[in-house]
Amino acid sequence: EAKSQGRGCYALFDQSMHERAETRMRIEGDLRMAIQRDEFVLHYQPIVDLESGHLEGVETLVRWNNRDRGLVQPNDFISIAEETRLIIPIGEWILKEACRQFAEWRRTLGEHAPPCFHVNASRLQMLNPGFVEMVTDCLYENDIPSQCLHLEITESVLIQEPGTIVRTLDALRDVGVLIDIDDFGTGYSSLSCLHEFPIDVLKIDRVFVNNMRSVKDAAALLHVILTLADDLDLQVIAEGVETPEQLATLQSMGCQYAQGFFFSKPLAVDEFEAFAMKAANGLNVVDSPATPAL
Ligand code: C2E
Ligand code: MG
Ligand code: MG
Ligand code: MG
Repeated sequence: EAKSQGRGCYALFDQSMHERAETRMRIEGDLRMAIQRDEFVLHYQPIVDLESGHLEGVETLVRWNNRDRGLVQPNDFISIAEETRLIIPIGEWILKEACRQFAEWRRTLGEHAPPCFHVNASRLQMLNPGFVEMVTDCLYENDIPSQCLHLEITESVLIQEPGTIVRTLDALRDVGVLIDIDDFGTGYSSLSCLHEFPIDVLKIDRVFVNNMRSVKDAAALLHVILTLADDLDLQVIAEGVETPEQLATLQSMGCQYAQGFFFSKPLAVDEFEAFAMKAANGLNVVDSPATPAL
């Protein structure tokens, strides 16, 4: 670090680096107050069963509604929350709010409620000793069967301290919670080690889905991932489905679930409720006019 090497090193900072560091410090300060000020809000993106056209579930995605900055997207604050460990209290708020909302939907939407909900979890949360108990308490207090909850972690979480992570994953799966690997294919996990991890679902990163037509390798890799998932008895959710062509190709490859702008962007609570009611009649996944790209 430049700072620890002495004052002279500040000369190495150019103006923009200095400004960026200041911005980060201001965001950190504001993040510290954001929970008390109740500034976080969850948005909800539907996940669709490509065979039936029904909702498979919903992914909760956090946003930060700050009075000065407006609605801040997670890519602009999650990494700062992780570096400052603020992701632990923020992540706890997210899980509690997701459980509260999911339980409410089970009451108010009844059979139209999504069958399960997916919550993103960071590495530091998974390593936090009280995490599994916090999760089970949350489910219990909201009267939610644990099989309704999927926790999404990225491949990178599996790489560092895999022993501790695997123990946490085992404990979560012992109580019935499901584990998804998010952004699968973009990390560094070796395909040959995948069977060693206690996981249930691969969420294929949208780069493979988006580049299917333009990049020949993307479609080939997609095929490899689907075959592997089948061999390991893992479910697959394709992320970032935007066009009917992509949907048709995924279906022709036997991909079971998908999410993406083709179905819906992440929605505010009331918008998601309207979507769930509409989805009760089945979403349009079979009458797609496009023919498979392969
Ligand atoms: P993710 O978990 O992979 O979430 C999917 C992201 O892709 C979301 O971005 C979503 O809006 C976006 N997306 C969905 N469908 C499409 C599509 O068809 N096309 C394109 N181009 N994008 C699509 P978002 O909400 O900005 O979240 C970004 C990332 O921030 C998430 O990626 C996740 O890693 C992280 N994140 C979001 N919410 C949370 C949270 O509650 N906790 C933690 N730890 N991380 C979160
Ligand atoms: Mg996710
Ligand atoms: Mg993802
Ligand atoms: Mg991501």
